[in-house]
Amino acid sequence: MAVQLKLVNWEAKKERTLVRVGDRIIGGEKFVVIAGPCAVENREMMLDVAERVKRMGVTMLRGGAFKPRTSPYSFQGLGEEGLKILAEARERTGLPVVTEVLSPEHVELVAAYADMLQIGARNMQNFELLKAVGEQRKPVLLKRGMAATLEEFLAAAEYILVRGNENVVLCERGIRTFSDHSRFTLDLSLIPVLKTKTHLPIIVDPSHGTGNRQHVAAMALAAIAAGADGIIVEVHPEPEKALSDGPQSLYFEQLEKLMRDLEVIAPVVGRQLDLSYKPVVPAAWVKVSPLRVAYQGEPGAFSEKAVFQYFGENARPVPQATFREVFEAVAQRRVHYGVVPIENSLTGSIHENYDLLLEYDVAIVGELKLRIIHNLIAHDGVRLEDIRRVYVHPQAMAQCHLFLATHPEWEIHQVSDTAGAVKHIKENGLRDAAAIASLDAAKRFGMAVLLESIESDPRNYTRFLVISAEHVITEKANKTSLIYSTPNVPGALLRTLKVFADRNINLVKLESRPIAGRPWEYVFYVDLEGSLEDPTIAAAIEEVRQMTDFLKILGSYPASP
Ligand code: PEP
Ligand code: MN
Repeated sequence: MAVQLKLVNWEAKKERTLVRVGDRIIGGEKFVVIAGPCAVENREMMLDVAERVKRMGVTMLRGGAFKPRTSPYSFQGLGEEGLKILAEARERTGLPVVTEVLSPEHVELVAAYADMLQIGARNMQNFELLKAVGEQRKPVLLKRGMAATLEEFLAAAEYILVRGNENVVLCERGIRTFSDHSRFTLDLSLIPVLKTKTHLPIIVDPSHGTGNRQHVAAMALAAIAAGADGIIVEVHPEPEKALSDGPQSLYFEQLEKLMRDLEVIAPVVGRQLDLSYKPVVPAAWVKVSPLRVAYQGEPGAFSEKAVFQYFGENARPVPQATFREVFEAVAQRRVHYGVVPIENSLTGSIHENYDLLLEYDVAIVGELKLRIIHNLIAHDGVRLEDIRRVYVHPQAMAQCHLFLATHPEWEIHQVSDTAGAVKHIKENGLRDAAAIASLDAAKRFGMAVLLESIESDPRNYTRFLVISAEHVITEKANKTSLIYSTPNVPGALLRTLKVFADRNINLVKLESRPIAGRPWEYVFYVDLEGSLEDPTIAAAIEEVRQMTDFLKILGSYPASP
């Protein structure tokens, strides 16, 4: 018989649950990585791990103070001493910490130090413990019992929700099967099924799932592809000497490599890594909440998704009608940042924004890449044959030209943003029309998706720039953008490029734009590898400045993969 569930179901709630842990969010646009040792072994080791993983862009720290061990003779954890060390690691790095609570009597104690309470696999059906964590307000990481069915897993979460604590993150960590090639069988097939059943976030533990550090990265990459909201992994400075779970603990170098691989895969599957160092927030703004970020379009636009992917759901996207208004809002400091598209992998540069970068006094402080999937969206019940016209943004039109060519009979109406197109056919009750936009836009306006993924090539990415009124260069900056114009004489451009070539500086993009009012004269936009903080780069730019009529530094920032 089916287990009765209420609060964890989609029927109970329309929106996915975003679980806030400190200032981090689990279950949003960003894929979270929780890392740390299996157990807190001593202060030095824990602080070392915390500093190291922080620099890699990890979202949260893990570490057990109360350890559930198979043998009573194994290391049982440092108890409250371990909790104090975790709290110190959080103070030093700003990373929220998650740690296991083994029994109801300890809930209050653990909650006094930790930002999130972990219920271990062995305790998934410890109902008194579930009730106890349900009674308090700290978020809970609930691990799947090693023999629990999907329903039993959700029922355990229901115990916590029904006591008033909605902040539950589920964690698949492997189950017992007849397979003996790994410690447990990591059941990734649970993820897509869970997503259809519950609004709660789900993360994956490939460390306990495999029991072998050699296989952790492969399963972590599979987890993000399967739709997980994050991973929790074990890492240790000297895994051979670990007091628990050494064989499955990653070396720092392995975690660093995994972070890089996740960063590359994330945009392909529509996510972004929560690389906490990426939003370059000027010190004065750190406490400003919410962060206001201007973008062009309506809610549901790709640019809005880019805002959430870069800044997380703590940001407040501020819609603007035009790109110029985004630049205005940033330059006048009415918002903290702006996010604008600059280039698409199928259709090339967005020239208007290149021109606005020249005109406005703003700095580039970051960039990100978003995979763009276009869909044909209409009112519920509208069939393909009912459509007479389609509302489409010029960029979307260019990116979907192969599909549109199969419907020459459709009248094309150009609009200024994709989500606005959906809004238009919705509000005007147009049942003979369709819009081309994102799934988010369809959902936002309660519209149906007639056809999914109609872009001409699935490798369709848009690169967005994050702009600010202030130049901020962090240690992660590895790309610099400039604009300059050269005298209209033979070899002038070549001479400037040679300055970079002679210093072994790699140019990653060169774009020219006409200068308004001066026919056949151009400005050049150059993106190069390296940061202005690097003396070689700074010297090269100064040398180029001597050869040019005009040179403007747009910024140094962390390049997106
Ligand atoms: C742990 O996270 O260290 C742990 C004990 O996990 P699990 O409960 O999944 O075995
Ligand atoms: Mn462990």
